[in-house]
Amino acid sequence: MPKIDEKLHNVTARLTAAAEAAGRHPQFVKLVAVSKTQPAEALEAAYQAGQRRFGENYLQEALPKQEALAHLPDIEWHFIGPIQSNKTRDIAEHFDWVHSVDRLKIAQRLNDQRPAQLGHLNICLQVNLDAEDSKAGVSLQALPELALKVSQLPNLSLRGLMAIPAPREEQAAQRASLARLRQALEDLRAQGLALDTLSMGMSADLEAAVAEGATLVRVGTDIFGPRS
Ligand SMILES: *Cc1c(COP(=O)(O)O)cnc(C)c1O
Repeated sequence: MPKIDEKLHNVTARLTAAAEAAGRHPQFVKLVAVSKTQPAEALEAAYQAGQRRFGENYLQEALPKQEALAHLPDIEWHFIGPIQSNKTRDIAEHFDWVHSVDRLKIAQRLNDQRPAQLGHLNICLQVNLDAEDSKAGVSLQALPELALKVSQLPNLSLRGLMAIPAPREEQAAQRASLARLRQALEDLRAQGLALDTLSMGMSADLEAAVAEGATLVRVGTDIFGPRS
């Protein structure tokens, strides 16, 4: 089994190649290492190899890891999992980004509970691109109204959109789906919202995502190996 530093290096090389193939500057594609179910030691190995952004899905798992890694400076923590109302305070206090906001009520609670000394909490709205019953996310139809309201919350900085599209094998099909998220972002910008972030692309579709303009790619398996 290759080590975490080698796998991280491979993912970074794939991102750079995909950006160059799309005529994009690689520095505008940032990697979030998705570390759910991985022990703190695995995150530390990625950190020692240069990784600074980590994505976690479950609060009860993330908080002890954050404590175990508190001695490492400059880690940026991204919350990417489903959000229950009773978890918003801990999320507002312990994360720099939240990618999975899909309801105004959750956004309001994060806004109210964000400690002033931490500055703005960066937010992406999760979109249910394929209208799957099993998946979280606001519909494309309801997105503009939600985005407008969230953009007015003073302690949040609405940065853009996130999606987990239904899995597709073919890169062309992956791109067609991701293009709809890109278009939704462009529509919101045309309405005057200052958004700069497309959080899309995972291990299986990162090339397609970069081709469609992803600025934050969330990769777990291809960095840390399969989850047990
Ligand atoms: C687990 C997860 C990922 C990473 O998926 P991989 O296929 O392991 O790269 C990305 N985004 C979200 C929201 C996840 O839950």
